Amino acid sequence: MLGLMQNQPLLISSLIEFAERHHSDGEIVSRRVEGDIHRYFYKDLAIRSRQVANALDALTIGFSERVATLAWNGYRHMEIYFGVSGSGRVLHTLNPRLHPDQVVWIANHAEDQVLCFDASFLAIVQAVHARCTTIKHYVMLCDADKLPQDTGIPNLISYEAWIGRQSSDYTWPVFDENSASSMCYTSGTTGNPKAALYSHRSTVLHAYAAALPDVMNLSARDSVLPVVPMFHVNAWGIPYSAALTGCKLVFPGPALDGKSVYDLLESEKVTFAAGVPTVWQMLLGHMQANGLRFSTLNRTVIGGSACPPAMINAFNDDYGIDVLHAWGMTEMSPLGTLCTLKNKHLLLSKEEQMKIRLKQGRAIYGMDMKIIDEAGKELPHDGKAFGDLLVKGPWIVAEYFKQSEEASAKSPLVDGWFPTGDVATIDPDGYMQITDRSKDVIKSGGEWISSIDIENIAVAHPAVAMAACVGVYHPKWDERPIIAVVKKPGSDVSREALIAFYEGKTAKWQIPDDVVFVDAIPLGATGKMLKNKLRETLKDYKLPQN
Ligand code: AMP
Repeated sequence: MLGLMQNQPLLISSLIEFAERHHSDGEIVSRRVEGDIHRYFYKDLAIRSRQVANALDALTIGFSERVATLAWNGYRHMEIYFGVSGSGRVLHTLNPRLHPDQVVWIANHAEDQVLCFDASFLAIVQAVHARCTTIKHYVMLCDADKLPQDTGIPNLISYEAWIGRQSSDYTWPVFDENSASSMCYTSGTTGNPKAALYSHRSTVLHAYAAALPDVMNLSARDSVLPVVPMFHVNAWGIPYSAALTGCKLVFPGPALDGKSVYDLLESEKVTFAAGVPTVWQMLLGHMQANGLRFSTLNRTVIGGSACPPAMINAFNDDYGIDVLHAWGMTEMSPLGTLCTLKNKHLLLSKEEQMKIRLKQGRAIYGMDMKIIDEAGKELPHDGKAFGDLLVKGPWIVAEYFKQSEEASAKSPLVDGWFPTGDVATIDPDGYMQITDRSKDVIKSGGEWISSIDIENIAVAHPAVAMAACVGVYHPKWDERPIIAVVKKPGSDVSREALIAFYEGKTAKWQIPDDVVFVDAIPLGATGKMLKNKLRETLKDYKLPQN
């Protein structure tokens, strides 16, 4: 017997329709590439998203065809999010921080038909368009009178002219909720990048889950600043969850430095912000240097790489801000775990609570996880045993885009579970803690050393801005950890002082054998440390003889 409830597919268009009907005066504020602040409301977003859909019809872009963006977080990007996916096309957010050759490879692989880009990325588009073999239309996100002449880009049109001539009458089509809605390529540190192809169903379910109290706890009372880019896993799904909750949205545009982010947090009375640790490092640096305080911010979600304890402490102790440590992946839409306390933890001491807050967090309903050993056997949830972390759920990839076309293709899944490439523990309360990427784990004398633990200690030193721990060959122990360190401007610390700083903070045999001071640590297009690159630059490095 089937249930007798209405069968309504979970479509992204339902989010924007809902926001228009029930949160029409919810505000969306954007710092624009043009330098000014733009304000409007969900009702305007809905109208202009429909114009985008009509504009795509006018270009005869077919169902499931890809429409790419190269854009910062802003209202026009948000209109494209809903106009493209809502009308049945697939939104492809390109990462402007990639090398132009990678942009070309990815755009051709995705077979993008249209590219919408911010004025600040004009030079990238000029460098790549001749090699992008499938893109037929280029749209610059600007007013008609701001469109530059003689760019050499064929069929270039301004966004405002493109949608301005379209009617705002449009009926969102109804189709299978499993249809593709958007795609995002993984960072691709080894081999060619691979694309996660999200569906309407996976996106809407993820949007529901992201808004839950033990996840981002989003509501119509919030003012939300996604610093995490809309070109990196859909800004962690915030554009969709925002439409679902009617929260105020504040888009930072291209200005991600400490001062710009702080000014926006204050002027727009932001209550909740989301971003990777490097962005918060810049914000905290600006605030500390200028003796500033937050007046409305009450929580921030930090993820994408491990959040150092020093950062959680700074937000918590110095500013009274709740830090929610989060973990996920492009392949997971991206949210997997978030770290919030359970009722029984509330009476624990601050130190005990801190031990929990440092973990990547608990599973969100819709995402299950397990850890396994080398033989594939599931490991206990005792907070000690660590192994490969596997996940499954309706917003986790089953296979990569076009993977089935490759002769050598094999499913990325292992018995229906997706291997994350992370190594982790899970404690009896279900809190997962990443110890490493499997390829970054250091094995010394048969024992494992977590590079994240070693880095966290280094960045707690007041003179250290950034630190990366890698293993180097050792004739007796196989590998020993060394730490590459970027000093804070105007600060100093010696090798000996930093090694002494580890005393008592970790087991003696885990203390790095050496400190290498560097000007910068190579970062990838999504702000993660590129340890492969670092290892390459250290290839002639020799451990000191003890
Ligand atoms: P991406 O697909 O580019 O978002 O990268 C996903 C990877 O980032 C994960 O598999 C982890 O290795 C890493 N990552 C994400 N969040 C965290 C976190 N909170 N702590 C440690 N590593 C993280």
